[in-house]
Amino acid sequence: MTYVIGVPPLPSVAVHGEATRRFPVRRIFCVGRNYAGHAREMGSDPEREPPFFFTKPSDAVVDAGCPVAYPPQTSELHHEVELVVALRSGGRDLDPNDALRHVYGYAVGNDLTRRDLQREAKARRRPWALAKGFDGAAVFGPLHPAVEVGHPQRGAISLWVDDEVRQQGDLSDMIWSPAEVIAHLSRSLTLGAGDCIMTGTPAGVGPLTPHQTCRARIEGLGEAATNLVVARS
Ligand code: MN
Repeated sequence: MTYVIGVPPLPSVAVHGEATRRFPVRRIFCVGRNYAGHAREMGSDPEREPPFFFTKPSDAVVDAGCPVAYPPQTSELHHEVELVVALRSGGRDLDPNDALRHVYGYAVGNDLTRRDLQREAKARRRPWALAKGFDGAAVFGPLHPAVEVGHPQRGAISLWVDDEVRQQGDLSDMIWSPAEVIAHLSRSLTLGAGDCIMTGTPAGVGPLTPHQTCRARIEGLGEAATNLVVARS
């Protein structure tokens, strides 16, 4: 097979303990509201809504610690600390009791969001695509293989901006567990190796400005730093 233009690079993220081998990112799915506190702060009733999904382009992924340019077309860039689930395999109509065997590993993520664009999109009944998808919009810490860390069910999930704590929750607060999220998503499409799921954020999302350092943390999975820099004009 040859192509009429150069083949674009495959997006990938670092793996904890691996010097040279990386995890190839195929697609990035995100759960819209998965912690009751965040659902409430966004004006929804967390009790009544099944999970819903949006996506980010796979090339929005960036390793934690790399500089992220403050994106254009926004004056309200928000942080969202999230547990990232990375799949080694997949399928359709997966059983939640069996879904975790498809997981390669877990990471801390930051679902960067142009909140002003998202708010406008909601008001005008338009897609969130550009509110959630832009260069550097998915910050992933190194993936921790499940064979090493198991399948986290609980543990502190938090986010700090410089010295100020902004988000604090626990993985056990998730409305839909990772296994349930995987199973639910697999009813809508065929999941496969390289697919990643950002599983939602606890309450406390808020704005970031250039030169701030945002540290997302999950107990047992370390930290994902987002270093915001001023975009080149
Ligand atoms: Mn999110």
